[in-house]
Amino acid sequence: MDTAFLTRWIAGIADAVRAERDRLTELDAAIGDADHGANLDRGFGAAVQALADDPPAAPGALLRLVGGTLISRVGGASGPLYGTAFREAGRSLGSSGEASEVSLADLARALRAGLDGVTRLGSAAEGDKTMVDAFAPAVRALETAVSAGAGEREAFEAAASAALAGAEATVPMVARKGRASYLGPRSAGHEDPGAASCALIFAALCTADQG
Ligand code: ADP
Ligand code: MG
Ligand code: MG
Repeated sequence: MDTAFLTRWIAGIADAVRAERDRLTELDAAIGDADHGANLDRGFGAAVQALADDPPAAPGALLRLVGGTLISRVGGASGPLYGTAFREAGRSLGSSGEASEVSLADLARALRAGLDGVTRLGSAAEGDKTMVDAFAPAVRALETAVSAGAGEREAFEAAASAALAGAEATVPMVARKGRASYLGPRSAGHEDPGAASCALIFAALCTADQG
């Protein structure tokens, strides 16, 4: 995978977030403050623009630019969290010498570093009803696929379906982190908006892979 692949990925995320903006906002209206769709639409729109304005030469630099843009352009909790995820993923790739191509194993390691960044910043564990409930199983699925010697397509499909299942599994959970935790037991019965958007992010890997 190269910068063209990652640029397609970010553009695909922006498209999916725009298409699902109202659903993300409705999910956030139920257990938060009804801005998740708008937050991510603004953030990923700005990320696409930043990549077009100044196309990074290497995958690590590209993901760091996306992360920095999300951090500076999204006010809500999700901006710093997703921003950190992309920035840490980019840092992880950068440390391998700013190579122009990254392997599936490199990407899995990078996304693991991104997830670690999210849990360091937000201290959410799986089961707390956050984006981590989709992110963590998706990274595990990617790692399992790498260990099994799977190809990109199979690995991305496994990660996307793990993220989707993880997001759906947040419905009965009681939120222990973020704004939804203020509702206590009343947060149960609704899908977490950040877990839903995280599923879109992993689904977009499959679309980027199809060129
Ligand atoms: P805000 O809650 O500030 O309005 P958003 O609505 O954009 O921000 O994002 C809310 C999402 O952020 C939640 O659905 C949840 O998935 C995620 N989130 C909130 N706090 C945390 C945290 N501490 N760790 C991980 N994810 C979190
Ligand atoms: Mg919100
Ligand atoms: Mg908000």
